This record gives sequence, C-alpha cells and structure tokens, in this order.
Amino acid sequence: MASTFETVFESEVLVVGGGLAGMLAALEASMEGASVALFTKGRVGLSGSSAISQTVFLVFEGERVEDFLKGVYEAGRKLNDLSLLKIVIERGASAVRRLQELGVPLHGGRVNEDGSRFYSIRRGRSADLVLPLREAFLFRGIPVYEGFQLIDLIKDGDYVNGALFMKDGKIFLVGAKAVVLATGGYARIYSYNDNTVHTTGEGLISALKTGAKLVDLEFVQFYPYWLVSPAWVGIYASLFALGARLKNSKGEYFLSKYPKGELETRDVLAREIFLQDEVFLDLSSLSDSIIEEINPILYKVLRKYGRDNLKVSPVAHFTMGGIKIDDSCFTGVGGLFACGECAAGVHGANRLGGMALTECATLGLLAGRVSAQYAKGVEPKKVRVEAPSLPKEGDDPLIDLEKSLGKVMWKYAGILRDEESLKLAMEEIYKLKECFEMRKPKSLEHWLRLKSMFELSELLIQASLLRRESRGAHWRSDFPREDEAWQKHIAFSRIHDKIFLELLS
Ligand SMILES: Cc1cc2nc3c(=O)[nH]c(=O)nc-3n(C[C@H](O)[C@H](O)[C@H](O)COP(=O)(O)OP(=O)(O)OC[C@H]3O[C@@H](n4cnc5c(N)ncnc54)[C@H](O)[C@@H]3O)c2cc1C
Repeated sequence: MASTFETVFESEVLVVGGGLAGMLAALEASMEGASVALFTKGRVGLSGSSAISQTVFLVFEGERVEDFLKGVYEAGRKLNDLSLLKIVIERGASAVRRLQELGVPLHGGRVNEDGSRFYSIRRGRSADLVLPLREAFLFRGIPVYEGFQLIDLIKDGDYVNGALFMKDGKIFLVGAKAVVLATGGYARIYSYNDNTVHTTGEGLISALKTGAKLVDLEFVQFYPYWLVSPAWVGIYASLFALGARLKNSKGEYFLSKYPKGELETRDVLAREIFLQDEVFLDLSSLSDSIIEEINPILYKVLRKYGRDNLKVSPVAHFTMGGIKIDDSCFTGVGGLFACGECAAGVHGANRLGGMALTECATLGLLAGRVSAQYAKGVEPKKVRVEAPSLPKEGDDPLIDLEKSLGKVMWKYAGILRDEESLKLAMEEIYKLKECFEMRKPKSLEHWLRLKSMFELSELLIQASLLRRESRGAHWRSDFPREDEAWQKHIAFSRIHDKIFLELLS
C-alpha cells in the first residue's frame, strides 16, 4: 500500500453521503446487523439537498396503484424505470411511517383523486426532517466521518471493496465488503441553482470509473420560480395554489394560456419563464399571515424589501440522470449499490414534486438492507490501490474556472438547447479544461470536484446533442417535438479510460 495514505478504516458496509438516502441506508444496514460506516464530505444531515428541502413527500395510499403510476409515468415522458417506480410507489407510505417512528413530524394532507397524498413538515422546516435522523444515527453509534470527500472507488477484479477519501489534502483508505453511493445529484454544474455546494457529482464519476453505467444525464429539472432579486430565496408552489401570480415586464399574466397556470409541470413553467425578458412575483391577493405560514423565509424578505419588484427566475434544481441501478439498487458492479438522487430511473425525463424524497426514503432503506445482506456473503480481502495522480499544489483558488463552467452550462446547455449552443458549450469547456490542466490548485479537493464537474458537463452535453427531440426537461429548440423513436436511454460506460455510449430501451 502506498505510504501517502493516512489511515485505513474497515467496515462491512460503507455508505457515502449523509443526505436522506445515505442516512436511511446506513441505519437500515446497521439494523440488518452489518458493521457500517458513513463518510460524507459535508456534515451528516446538514449537507446536500435533503438539508434544504421543502420536506414534501408524495406517497400513494389508494387502492388502485395503476392510476397514480400512469400519472407519474406520463410526467416522466415514459422514460421511468417501471420496476423501480413501482417499488417507490408501493413502499412510499411505509417509508413515511418509518420516518415518523424515527421522530420526523410529517403530517399528511387530504387524499387526492388518484390515491396519492402529500406529507410535509409544518412550514417546510427541513431541520425537522434531518435532525431526528442524525440523532438516530448518533444513538445507534454508527461511526460517522464528516468532511471526507470521495475521490475514487477501489476495485479488486470485478468487485468494489473500498474507497479513497480526501480530507485537508490527505488521502484515507476505507475497506468495505459493500459500498452504497448516496452522494446526491449534480445541479451545481449550473451557475444558477438552488442546491448546496455539495452536489457536484463526484459519486457519479467514481461509479463510472468502476464500470457502472450513467444514464439520462441530459435530464435536468429547473425549479421554475426562485426569487433572485432583491434576495435569493425559494418560492413555494403552494402560494400559487392560493392565488399568487407571475407577470412579465409588460404586466401580462403570461401563464394564463395554460389550464393550470402557474401550477403547470415544472418543465413547461421553467421554459415559459426563461423565454420572458423579466418575470415578477405578484402576491397582491395574499395576506401577510398566509405568506408567513406557508413560506416563512420569503415572508422575511417581504418585510425587509416590500412586495414590489420581486424578480423571479428558474434555477437548476434536481438531476434525473445518474447511476443506473436495478430494482435492488445494484449497479451491476459487484459490491456497488446506489440510491437517492445520484441514481437514475425513478423519474424518467421529468420529476413530480414530492417524489424525490419518497424515492430517497424507500430506496435508501432498500439499499441499506440489500447491501448488508450482500456483505454477509463476502469473504474479507486485502484492499490494494495505487495512489491517484494529482497536480502539484499551489495557491490557485480555481473559483474563476468553476464560475465560467457554470455560466457556460447555464447559457448553452440549460433550459433551452440546440445543436449550435451545445457545440459552443463543448468548445468553451475544452478551452476551460486547457486552463484547468495548467493550474496549481490551492485545494486538491476542489481540483478533484471541478474535474468531475467538467467530466459530467461533457457527458451531459454529448447526450443532449445526441437526443434530437424534446422530452420532459430536455428541450431542444431545433427539435421541439417528442419523437417516439427516442423513447430510449442514453447510457455511458467507461472501459480503460475510454467512454462508450449506447442506447438502452
Ligand atoms: C431547495 C430544494 C428543495 C427541495 N424540496 C423537495 C421536496 O420538498 N420534496 C422532494 O421530493 N424533493 C425535494 N427536493 C429534492 C430532494 O431534496 C433531493 O432530491 C434529495 O434530498 C436528495 O437526497 P440524497 O440523500 O440523494 O442527496 P443529498 O441530500 O443531496 O445528500 C448528498 C450527500 O452526499 C454527500 N456527498 C456528495 N458528494 C460527496 C463526495 N464526493 N464524498 C463524500 N460525500 C459526498 C454530501 O455531503 C451530502 O451529505 C428539493 C431540492 C432542493 C434543492
């Protein structure tokens, strides 16, 4: 073993990521009797999208699952993995009960016609979702390593049996019989996004390097209404159900042409808002007390700045693409499992509000259980690994490159795309990468994150170029129609450092 590695840890199940999916996977694997360790580059429960979510879970509680399933499949433009989706729908309600038992104060609304029901926490307090789980963790004594960034998975023959992490520039080796990736999505590659700093996609690139497939990368959901001026804060959809409106710079309620107005699907709204010069939030029909009850952070902004000139823009929010998994959260590479937003399949080309947290809860629990059972049958092996190649350290903060990448992705590979813009994006990225190769980074962790962001951006652009149609969240202005022939997934794999692309039905 190379002497550059600081410390060696061992566990049967190694969970990477401390969001909802990772926490539940680790808890469940521990309940199954496996020794578990959780590593995360942020803090457990306090990093990634789970830590800032609106806490809405959409679950099915009716009799006839077909109606609800059909609706989700339609929204996903028929690219959802039906067996995964069925698991999420059938087990969503019991996953919510499990969260309630763990102390998460989720309250159900009325049951909808299709048998679905929203659960949420009062005032969307995400702390009430993640803190009880964090406590459950500490209570069970599961070892937690915070501030450790996954930099590579370790493979012995056909099996993953550990991972390399970096903290403060030092490399740590962790051996495991099974690894569960729960590292969240990659919306941070866009300059305008509502994610935390953690969703930069290294988990996906690490999985790709082991032989796992990445699919559906071109499908990025843009949350349609984010307040961007005079402050930066999310606007909850429930305000629109109560009468909030959006108008353009001419004062027109430009979404009136749609039957559901401001409550249309997110892909339609994001596009329409993006196409306007400027868009403003009109709250004139809502009282202060309603706004305070539903959207307390927005209410604070109104108290400070008033209700005029509330400028709205879409932001990159959620990534439907990710690591391909089967209905056991297995990636196809021995010992490697994935769950939560880093995995693909449940939502197809577009996600319904509330379905991501339900997915994280159901598949997080499943991945924990399956990985623990898998680990029981694996003989311990010595972990061997070569030191990864890293640049010389210097004092370059790299921030300019990350910002430029975000702007390129937003401008040329964002809500609206066409062949010309996507090719331009690729050219710009090549130039940025040339600069990147020359830089001596102040932080090796940051250099590794940026490297992954470049790699993911390139794959996303390649997939977007290839998909010559518009479907769900992928909108090609030069191919504005959905094409039945494209009811397929674009999958990437990597063999001996070469990227291969295939179409999967
Ligand atoms: C503002 C906002 C509001 C939302 N509201 C809702 C909602 O109400 N309902 C809904 O269904 N969905 C919602 N979503 C989406 C949903 O919150 C996410 O899809 C979900 O929380 C993802 O959970 P996760 O556990 O997969 O990943 P995350 O919660 O993103 O956690 C990822 C974890 O992985 C760690 N990590 C990442 N990379 C590495 C690495 N290289 N090494 C080590 N650790 C790493 C991070 O530190 C973090 O702990 C919202 C998203 C946003 C941004």
